Amino acid sequence: MDIDFYKKLWKRIKIDKQAIRSEINNRRKNGEAYVAMATISPILDKDNGEVKFFVGIEKDVTKEKQVDKAKTEFVSLASHQLRTPLSAIGWYAEMLLDGDAGKINKEQKLYLEEIYRGNQRMVELVNALLNTSRLELGTFIIEPQETDLKFLAEDVIKEQQPSISAKKLLFKSSFAKNLPKIKVDPKLTRIVFQNLLSNAVKYTPEGGRVELSLNLEKTAISLSVKDTGYGIPKAQQDKIFEKLFRADNVKALDTEGTGLGLYLVKSIIEKSGGRISFESEEGRGTIFEVKIPLSGMKAKAGTKQLS
Ligand code: ADP
Repeated sequence: MDIDFYKKLWKRIKIDKQAIRSEINNRRKNGEAYVAMATISPILDKDNGEVKFFVGIEKDVTKEKQVDKAKTEFVSLASHQLRTPLSAIGWYAEMLLDGDAGKINKEQKLYLEEIYRGNQRMVELVNALLNTSRLELGTFIIEPQETDLKFLAEDVIKEQQPSISAKKLLFKSSFAKNLPKIKVDPKLTRIVFQNLLSNAVKYTPEGGRVELSLNLEKTAISLSVKDTGYGIPKAQQDKIFEKLFRADNVKALDTEGTGLGLYLVKSIIEKSGGRISFESEEGRGTIFEVKIPLSGMKAKAGTKQLS
């Protein structure tokens, strides 16, 4: 593991006097690499509270990791293969709707619109699956470049405008003056902004309020997205970033979610050195806050872009 890992490990055990549980890449005596799930606990002296011993328990999880990776690769491959036929269905539905193959009547138009919407939903789902697997396999690229976050936010807002208007939401945006451009991956940052704003819009009933703001802090730019929507039940708040998780209060209202958005957002933010937090009260609303360090994202080589 890298040196930072061991620094953190020893700080936690020796100074904080807390147990640590983590996956560790290790090597056997014969040099072979393996992955262990290790739990290391300090044993404290009952008189002076000093660390006397450590107890370490280690389980070899190499096989599990391999199986897990194979499954993720399968999802990645399958979703990649699904994209081509889905695009074709989308194009042809669009052409039929445009009357390219002859005039269509009202009923045909209605059916074709359903096909087109269903197709778009499938494309979104397949993209979310592909992104998730690329994050998990670590094959995705982080390509930081000087980015104007205000410009990016405005673009995302424009994209959400039809849904905002359709739900008659009161929308407000505010941007701190003199926001510096920072070096982030614009595609990844867009995924973050887009998911948080579309969630706020999706999970706020008609007539509610949604607010997006960008603020400048000492070491970071913070994005906050606030809504007066359904909120997240207290008992389920700790699961909100888990893969495929959707809270009970919205499942019945909106059947269209994937439960992958926040998982993606959190992975992107954490892998690029930022932080995400939220506060929510059921029936009153939610606020998500993301801090992106002014120092920007670290570049990461890889083979695939997230989309
Ligand atoms: P999806 O929106 O596709 O269901 P997400 O991963 O984006 O998936 O969100 C996971 C869950 O978190 C949602 O299903 C919902 O229960 C909850 N959630 C996220 N954002 C909000 C919000 N702004 N207001 C209320 N609930 C939210």
